[in-house]
Amino acid sequence: MHYKITHYCSHEKEYTQKIDLTEETLQRRLKNTLCEDCFINEQKKLYNKILENANTLAELKGENHEILWAEKIRAKAFLEIESSLQQMNNNLASLSIEQKEAFAHNITELEQAIIALRAETNAINWLKTSYMSGHTLITNIIKKNRELIETSNKTDN
Ligand SMILES: [Zn+2]
Repeated sequence: MHYKITHYCSHEKEYTQKIDLTEETLQRRLKNTLCEDCFINEQKKLYNKILENANTLAELKGENHEILWAEKIRAKAFLEIESSLQQMNNNLASLSIEQKEAFAHNITELEQAIIALRAETNAINWLKTSYMSGHTLITNIIKKNRELIETSNKTDN
């Protein structure tokens, strides 16, 4: 079955109904989202912004020999993050609606994690992460941020 949906970005797109979603569900979900093209454009813009920011890093603080090592560790971590972001970016077009929804949510967390990593200027703290991959670093920060949000939600209630 084919039908048309006007997206949030005001572009009209035609869809073929998928077996796992009713037309009503799909209509409701899609009309508040960007169309495929706009979604990909927006994500690319955001990724470029993240990558751009990742390349301008603050000066590290600590003893000279610590800073030398820490700079190497940090550079490696950001290279890994950069390459996995680019990989994800290349796969955007093949994502399902569900994956895109999850992705759009995660990208905020991802951006926050990268901002937090960039803000880390203590050389000692970077030395402590020497055995971690860029992916692990990011995942740990996202986990910690989620815990912080959960804790503050509990306090609010
Ligand atoms: Zn659009």
